[in-house]
Amino acid sequence: MNNMQSISPEKCAEFIREGGVAAFTGAGISTAAGIPDFRGKGGFYSTGRYNPDTVFEIEYFKTNPKPFYDFSRDMLEIVDRITPTFTHFFLAQLEEMGLLSSLSTQNIDPLHQMAGSKNVICIHGSYSSMNCLRCGKYYGLDASLEYIRSQDVPRCGECGGLLKPDVVFFGEQVHGMNEAMQEIAESKTLLVLGSSLVVYPAAILPQWAKRAVVVNRTGVSIPTVPEQYMVERELDDFFRQVAEYVF
Ligand SMILES: [Zn+2]
Repeated sequence: MNNMQSISPEKCAEFIREGGVAAFTGAGISTAAGIPDFRGKGGFYSTGRYNPDTVFEIEYFKTNPKPFYDFSRDMLEIVDRITPTFTHFFLAQLEEMGLLSSLSTQNIDPLHQMAGSKNVICIHGSYSSMNCLRCGKYYGLDASLEYIRSQDVPRCGECGGLLKPDVVFFGEQVHGMNEAMQEIAESKTLLVLGSSLVVYPAAILPQWAKRAVVVNRTGVSIPTVPEQYMVERELDDFFRQVAEYVF
C-alpha cells in the first residue's frame, strides 16, 4: 500500500457535498444486490449450462448463440426478482441533486438504471439495445428484452439474421472509455465501488482521478492517484452512514 489512508463516513460525505463526484462501479455492487458472482460458488458458471471460456466469445456466438442467450435469460430472470441496493439508490440521488457528474460501470445488469440513474456509462455494454448482425436493424430496450425472453435465439424480424445485444464480448471494443476517462479526470472525487481493479479497463480508469475513495471488501490501491482512501467494508453499511451526513 502506498499512500492509502482510511476515511470516516463523515469525511466522505464532506467530499461528496463539494460536488463534482464521479463514480466507478464493479461486480461488488451487483453481487450485493443478489446477482451471483459469475465464477464464484453458486455463480452463473456453476450451473454448467454455459462455458465461461466461450459464452462471451464473439466468433463462438456467431455459430452457437444459444449458451449466451441461456446466460442472458438466467441473469434477466434474477434481475426481475431483486431490487437495487441502497448504494445504487444513493448514487441516483446524488445525480439528481447535481452532486454526481458521472457514473461508469463494468456491470452489464440494469440495476443502476432501475435505481433511477440517468447517465450511466456502460463500459461493457448492456441489454438496452440489440442489432441484427446481418442487416444492422436496431432494436430498443423493450423489443430487446421481449425477443430475449420469447425466442430461444432471437432473430431479426426483417431478415431473420442473428440478433446481438449491445453487451461487449471478449475481443470487442469497450464502450465510453474516453468519456469515462475525461469525466474521472475532471472530477473532484472519484468513488470506486465494488471493484478489485484488476482487469482492464478497471485497472486503468481510476488512475486519472485526483482524489479517490475506494470502497471494497478487500483492499486495493491505485498507483497514480495522489490522494486516496480505502474503506474495507460492505458498500451499503458504509454509505448508509455517509448518507446521514449528506442529506
Ligand atoms: Zn436483420
